[in-house]
Amino acid sequence: MRRPIIAGNWKMNMTVSEAVALVRQLKALVASVRDIDIIVAPTFTVLQAVSRELEGSNIEMAAQDVFWESSGPYTGEISPIMLKDVGCRYVIIGHSERRQYFGEANESVQKKIRASLAMKLYPIVCVGEALEEREAGKTSDVVKIQVIQCLEGFSRQEMEKITIAYEPIWAIGTGKTATPQQAEEVHAFIREQLGHITHRQVSQGVRIQYGGSVNPDNISDLMLQPNIDGALVGGASLKADSFSSIVKFKKA
Ligand code: PEP
Repeated sequence: MRRPIIAGNWKMNMTVSEAVALVRQLKALVASVRDIDIIVAPTFTVLQAVSRELEGSNIEMAAQDVFWESSGPYTGEISPIMLKDVGCRYVIIGHSERRQYFGEANESVQKKIRASLAMKLYPIVCVGEALEEREAGKTSDVVKIQVIQCLEGFSRQEMEKITIAYEPIWAIGTGKTATPQQAEEVHAFIREQLGHITHRQVSQGVRIQYGGSVNPDNISDLMLQPNIDGALVGGASLKADSFSSIVKFKKA
């Protein structure tokens, strides 16, 4: 009932020519895929070129961050209307790298979600625990606080437009993937928490992606889990062959 959603987060990589070359290859490799939402999230500077390249394809575009105001004296920031203007349909919000290096907090994540929804951008909201938190048995506490502080107070219609990415920080870019069971346990917990802050039926429809060293070899087992609805992929999304293999996980 939940359509799989697989997104590639390119992070701070790719010049315009590299980005265009990558999406050209990717478009060809995934052209036959019809039953999955496929997304790439390039850096701001290549969004326009990538958007042009994606026209008429089955791949959508996301930005990696957004600011909540629509215009004004906010040097260096990019607004939801600007992302819409350049062809974004989705926006990643609250990635752990933004939380860790740039002071992103649950309160600002909530503001960014609200501003994005107002512009009809679909937020992909990231949550996840650090290694010390997992080792101290605090995963549920941390994730619960993130889910509540980022997502409480949205209407049913707004909630339906939000995707959550569960990304254990210790698994990002480390080659250490959570086991399908570890991931499923947290995904089920997140869905349960959503049930407390929105209608139960809506919580059943919200898509929850797993992120953290996803690759063509581990995607199928992750996707077999009942509450894992897709993936947010970092490193493996920078190559057309590995990202397309992940997108085509059913045939792997
Ligand atoms: C990410 O940055 O969202 C991510 C999951 O990265 P990687 O796949 O490289 O671990």
